[in-house]
Amino acid sequence: MAAHDVDLMVIGGGSGGVRAARVAAGHGARVMIAEEYRVGGTCVIRGCVPKKLLVYASRFSLDFEEAAGFGWTLHSPTFDWPTLIANKDREIARLEAAYTATLEKAGVAIAKSRAVFEDSHAVRLLATGERVRAAHVLIATGAAPHAGPAIPGREHVISSNEAFNLPELPRRILVQGGSYIAVEFACIFAGLGSKVTLVYRGENILRGFDDDVRGHLREQMEKRGIHVITGTKVAAVEKIKTHFCAHLSGGMSVTADRVMFALGRPPNVYGFGLDTAEVKLADNGGIKVDEYSRTSVPHIYAVGDVTNRVNLTPVAIREGHAFADTVFGGKPTAVDHTNVPTAVFSEPEVGAIGLTEAQARARFAKVDIYRTMFRPLKATLSGRDTTVLLKLVVDGVTDRVLGCHIVAPDAGEMIQLFAIAVKMGATKADLDATMAVHPTSAEELVTMRTVSRSYSREAAE
Ligand SMILES: Cc1cc2nc3c(=O)[nH]c(=O)nc-3n(C[C@H](O)[C@H](O)[C@H](O)COP(=O)(O)OP(=O)(O)OC[C@H]3O[C@@H](n4cnc5c(N)ncnc54)[C@H](O)[C@@H]3O)c2cc1C
Repeated sequence: MAAHDVDLMVIGGGSGGVRAARVAAGHGARVMIAEEYRVGGTCVIRGCVPKKLLVYASRFSLDFEEAAGFGWTLHSPTFDWPTLIANKDREIARLEAAYTATLEKAGVAIAKSRAVFEDSHAVRLLATGERVRAAHVLIATGAAPHAGPAIPGREHVISSNEAFNLPELPRRILVQGGSYIAVEFACIFAGLGSKVTLVYRGENILRGFDDDVRGHLREQMEKRGIHVITGTKVAAVEKIKTHFCAHLSGGMSVTADRVMFALGRPPNVYGFGLDTAEVKLADNGGIKVDEYSRTSVPHIYAVGDVTNRVNLTPVAIREGHAFADTVFGGKPTAVDHTNVPTAVFSEPEVGAIGLTEAQARARFAKVDIYRTMFRPLKATLSGRDTTVLLKLVVDGVTDRVLGCHIVAPDAGEMIQLFAIAVKMGATKADLDATMAVHPTSAEELVTMRTVSRSYSREAAE
């Protein structure tokens, strides 16, 4: 009898776990993956994919409004939330089946069960009671929405998980949080016709993004009718017949049909025996790993949100792939977590890569900022009151582009391509040498010639 039932047990069938399982099986390993909810994980089932579908749905209202300036007459379009949710669910089910088929084709055994450690080499599958011994274990259990502080009425609050499956579109919704998930849902509901209040305890939304982006997006959201209240938090939620009254810490109150919290996503590290396996946690609350995603126990690895490094799907996938190549492919691979591009699918979108102006100023002796704001061509006829923001952060000594920050329609698409240049170490001179594509908004990224602001540490001293 083999000492182990499998070469690799993967706990969690999300972005990181699925990729790792498939690639490890491709390298010849005997692999089992345990998933307690639905194969595909957060991104596919209740994250990136369904969210983007809702984002698309929400943007039609803008298109309808803008069409008139281009000569179109539309006879009061109507929206049906149950149709959107049913169509979204159909697509999610299709994707889940596709992920399952890919794993099966690769020879991965799928256990539809919660897995808990019994010792560092064995997990118990709770659905069947089966005990599986594994030479290696990969923890890819992701993260889950923070329930928020224990305020009165917290039981009435929903998270992004429930927002995807509400029986009806709330006429009024209060979203608490300043993260990209809070901002995106605020924009989705506003676009679909809800009256939205966004409450955030900090001074401005999107902490960690460039300050110009944060200010600009907030302004644009407010222009779209979203009521943004910062510097306060929800202190209690009271149910009044069919709706809710959210009492804010400053004394104000907001009436809404739904109250949603998006207060961060702590790593899923509890309740499945990490202590038993003697896997240690890091100061950031995630599982402590080295650059090869190896935990404090040499044959146990962890990837994705559960390590709380950069919590994005492409990063989890890359980490899962690198783990499989390292352990089963004979090719030790560390993931580079620098210059990870990111997007916020707000309205308008945000795209960002690299250092913010403040980060660059703290690290570099001389920093040049190139910044432009303009009305996009489409708005000239549609009459929409909106502006695009493009910003480059450049090392004033080496001329290297350190960061790029965009608030514009399709900023996510723009930053994906611009990220290649930044990753390759492009200089401002490289951008200047690049021919523009006209007429586009992105062309301004290669036509900005005048420094908007320049900081020099010597000058400051
Ligand atoms: C609303 C929302 C929008 C998002 N939008 C984006 C976006 O636009 N772009 C982007 O890049 N990222 C986005 N993300 C983040 C992205 O979804 C995550 O970074 C990504 O899914 C992390 O992958 P993972 O493999 O680490 O974990 P997950 O995908 O969360 O998978 C973990 C899996 O483990 C399972 N599990 C947990 N414990 C156990 C156990 N003990 N036994 C068995 N199974 C278990 C869970 O059921 C889950 O399926 C979004 C997230 C949310 C919530």
